[in-house]
Amino acid sequence: MKAPPFGYRRVDSAAEAVAALAELGSEARVLAGGQSLLPMLAIRLASPSHLVDIGRAGDLSSASADNGSFVVGASARQWVVEHEPAATAAAPLLVDAIGRAGQVPIRHRGTVVGSIAHADPSAEIPTAFLAQGGTAVAQDTSGTRTIPAEEFFQGPYMTALRDGELLREVRLDRWPDGTGHAFEEFSHSHESWPVVTAAALVHLDQGVIDRAAIAISGVGGTPVRGTEAEASLIGQAPDPDALGAAAEAATADLQPFSDVFGSGTYRRKVATVLVRRAMSTAVARAGGAT
Ligand SMILES: Cc1cc2nc3c(=O)[nH]c(=O)nc-3n(C[C@H](O)[C@H](O)[C@H](O)COP(=O)(O)OP(=O)(O)OC[C@H]3O[C@@H](n4cnc5c(N)ncnc54)[C@H](O)[C@@H]3O)c2cc1C
Repeated sequence: MKAPPFGYRRVDSAAEAVAALAELGSEARVLAGGQSLLPMLAIRLASPSHLVDIGRAGDLSSASADNGSFVVGASARQWVVEHEPAATAAAPLLVDAIGRAGQVPIRHRGTVVGSIAHADPSAEIPTAFLAQGGTAVAQDTSGTRTIPAEEFFQGPYMTALRDGELLREVRLDRWPDGTGHAFEEFSHSHESWPVVTAAALVHLDQGVIDRAAIAISGVGGTPVRGTEAEASLIGQAPDPDALGAAAEAATADLQPFSDVFGSGTYRRKVATVLVRRAMSTAVARAGGAT
């Protein structure tokens, strides 16, 4: 099958991108790395009137630390962020997640922000964004607005972005020094799409958990936070019983979908195991004993 006909506009800046989106109307789509959009065109799951190519927009290409955040621009390639020392320092969970997303040639073209805008319910990068916390910065011709990470994902391939908006950048919260992180996933073969993923961040104060985050994907239409499980860990020593109970609490109410890769019951069980593993590794990296 061939892609349906579409117009193509290459832009050099964010301002040009939002002007083009406003001019071309709601059927126009942003083209970032093209690693999800072009396959969708090829099988006619998408039929945009125009593609607005931001791949060479210079003011969207940076990935750097800024005021307690790690900021990734819309045209920053996954491979570049994965190998950026500032990302390893400020957002190591994101770096781990990128390293598991597809193969190296895909990561050379694909963007971090494109993966978040695409909002595949099993994807790694959105899971890391949700766990780490932060904001998505949307821009249109009237200006910018920020959307908290926990409000950004609204359903499978659905986000809080409005027609005509460019996801200009994502700003991930920088966790305090000494935070441990871990990203776990289960897939049926090496480098294939994950069935279930789990991300964890843990910070300890004198051996006691004082901050924790858990995010899981592949268990519903969007990645989910284990908010109650996180709260239950605060003030606790990070022993195996506490981590196991938190993993159970984070996954008990999930109602995952069933598909050819696994039943809903299987996905929930895998999620419990992955959360426990991720928490245990994060605690060890934070300097705790498990
Ligand atoms: C063989 C293969 C294997 C893969 N394996 C994995 C995997 O294991 N895990 C995984 O997570 N992903 C995987 N991917 C997908 C890959 O990570 C994509 O790069 C990513 O999903 C989308 O990023 P992109 O920059 O390519 O976006 P594009 O394909 O250009 O865009 C995707 C969608 O997001 C929209 N969009 C993009 N950027 C913006 C923006 N700034 N503002 C508003 N809308 C925007 C587009 O309009 C489009 O609807 C795989 C892809 C391939 C081809």
